[in-house]
Amino acid sequence: MTTFDEIKSSFPSLFPESARVECGEGWAGIVGRVLERIAATPGLAEMSHFRILSVRQDLGFMKIDAGYDGIYEDSLRPLFLLAEFRSRVTCEECGQPGHMRSTNGWKRCRCDEHSTPEEREQPPRPAWTLGRDTIKGFLWYDQAADELRIVDDLASIGMPTDFIHRIKKARE
Ligand SMILES: [Zn+2]
Repeated sequence: MTTFDEIKSSFPSLFPESARVECGEGWAGIVGRVLERIAATPGLAEMSHFRILSVRQDLGFMKIDAGYDGIYEDSLRPLFLLAEFRSRVTCEECGQPGHMRSTNGWKRCRCDEHSTPEEREQPPRPAWTLGRDTIKGFLWYDQAADELRIVDDLASIGMPTDFIHRIKKARE
């Protein structure tokens, strides 16, 4: 399993030694993929002055805090969102497929092996819950395709009717 220290040594200017890591090593690979994409886009890292400030677990999933020139928001923000959704289906301990579990009100993403017996009984949440409403529409993480996309027909991803109504009402 790739560790955060290894990712830092691979991308020392994008992910400096001083960046704080406050989550499990299972998510290091997700951060590595974000940095590979940034490094592979010509000029992006240099022109945006990108650097990670911290990576942390918040409400059970991974949040990347980064410093960069705001005019690059449109290129960088989708990468952080994709990373966040990947962390919702990746065990924070080991990086294997997992899903969000809840113990005493605390949420955490774990594989079966790293779950408590009680957590192991908890099934994955439905696929449609891996998304959020945005000004462009409902942004959904298609786990099978491993990509984010805007979904217009919310019933097509299995969202129950009462949730569809709730979203449409909130948009009014
Ligand atoms: Zn695990």
